[in-house]
Amino acid sequence: MRGIAIVGAGQAGLQLALGLLALGGYRVTVVSARTPEQLLAGPVLSTQAMFGPALRIERSAGLDLWAGAAPAVRDVDAVLVPEPGVRALEFTMTLDEPAQSVDQRLKMARWLELVAERGGRVEYRSLDRAGLRELAAANELTVVAVGRGGLAGIFERDAARSPFDAPQRTLAALYAHGVGAPDPSAGPRARMHAVPGVGELYLQPALTLSGPCDILLWEAVPGSPFDCFADRPDPDEQLRRMRESLRTYLPWEAELWEAAEPTDAGASLYGALTPEVRRPVARLDGGSGGSGGSGGGGAAAGGADGPAVLGIGDALVVNDPITGQGANSAARAAAAYLVAIVARRGEPFTTEWMHDTFERFWHRHARHTVEFTASMLTMPDHLQAVFGAAAEHPAVARRLANTYAEPIDYAAWLASPELTEEYLATVRSAAPGAGPVPDGPLP
Ligand SMILES: Cc1cc2nc3c(=O)[nH]c(=O)nc-3n(C[C@H](O)[C@H](O)[C@H](O)COP(=O)(O)OP(=O)(O)OC[C@H]3O[C@@H](n4cnc5c(N)ncnc54)[C@H](O)[C@@H]3O)c2cc1C
Repeated sequence: MRGIAIVGAGQAGLQLALGLLALGGYRVTVVSARTPEQLLAGPVLSTQAMFGPALRIERSAGLDLWAGAAPAVRDVDAVLVPEPGVRALEFTMTLDEPAQSVDQRLKMARWLELVAERGGRVEYRSLDRAGLRELAAANELTVVAVGRGGLAGIFERDAARSPFDAPQRTLAALYAHGVGAPDPSAGPRARMHAVPGVGELYLQPALTLSGPCDILLWEAVPGSPFDCFADRPDPDEQLRRMRESLRTYLPWEAELWEAAEPTDAGASLYGALTPEVRRPVARLDGGSGGSGGSGGGGAAAGGADGPAVLGIGDALVVNDPITGQGANSAARAAAAYLVAIVARRGEPFTTEWMHDTFERFWHRHARHTVEFTASMLTMPDHLQAVFGAAAEHPAVARRLANTYAEPIDYAAWLASPELTEEYLATVRSAAPGAGPVPDGPLP
């Protein structure tokens, strides 16, 4: 049995652990800073909208345990608000496959229990660098899946791949019951409002501890009037301030929040994160694994320099949630790492293998999430043109929606003004009856 340790019990770590346990042949240890009870009693962690490709991975691994209970969201109603109280550029983006959001408190608490039920060892403690070194020395591979936790600092920042060196938004979220819908007969729909220079608001139907709810993700441009939760108010006060802002900027939305209430005492979060990328391998003698790839030996890769560990998920790639990529990307990283671990058969998990494993994932997936998200935060002219075109052409709106689900398509049509113009020209010139407008690849 190959010994594999995973530090961190979020989307990346638990999905990888459960994948290894399902295959058999691995002695899996998960280190979690929180017990299921602590997770369930604690504050919300994310807004965690998961798109079709990531949900398919969970489904095929038998981990999509809430499919029948969580609202399935296909349509996203987008509205540009150029000034307070003014609606412009309205359109609906329809996803080819439904998205779903399951409160990570619920999901990770259950997945943690599953690890133990399926023969994994779970240690409940917050690991420090010394503890990590010990763990890595005792296992053939140690994967660090601590999210944005302090231990991620062992991985050196990759300046060339990091799009920003400061937060681009302050983030607040509120889980609420009793939020109205503009058309209750239309089924669960997400709503997205952009107020240029002020921020973006995303409403996402979701499943929380007490059943279906709505989550409002509040993306505030730092220093703007939306940036008003720095004192971390409790959920009731956060809701009061959100309502106040909605009345000024989105009065039609404020009406839908009149009867809303926070779902529980932990229903709100506030914070800010810097979108950045870190190098995937760290040595536990204090230095980074660097970008080289010297083969390692012994129980864990590293030999004389001390054991090396491999990062995954937010520990390496942090995206602002404006495009909802982080948990999706963590799911896809866990799937990619699982394939790489299995393909290794009995060979040692060298630092070279660690670098290759991340590089493959970076080029196939993660870099597109980073570039797509950076664009959405900065809104260059050609992306603004896409939003304008989406309001006129359903094919553009559909392709935009599905780029959130499959961000590799970003490279094919949004990565430069030329690519975008080339695609929009084909849409504009598509004469009625000339056949369907190309939607772009949706792998
Ligand atoms: C406001 C907000 C909204 C978001 N919305 C979305 C969205 O809609 N869609 C989407 O895809 N992504 C979204 N994200 C991002 C998403 O939540 C993360 O990208 C995702 O959870 C990352 O998963 P992970 O497994 O890498 O890390 P995490 O989920 O952060 O898990 C890390 C785990 O490691 C544990 N840990 C940390 N340090 C230690 C330690 N020293 N020892 C032991 N355990 C430790 C933590 O307790 C935690 O359980 C959002 C993020 C934010 C902040």
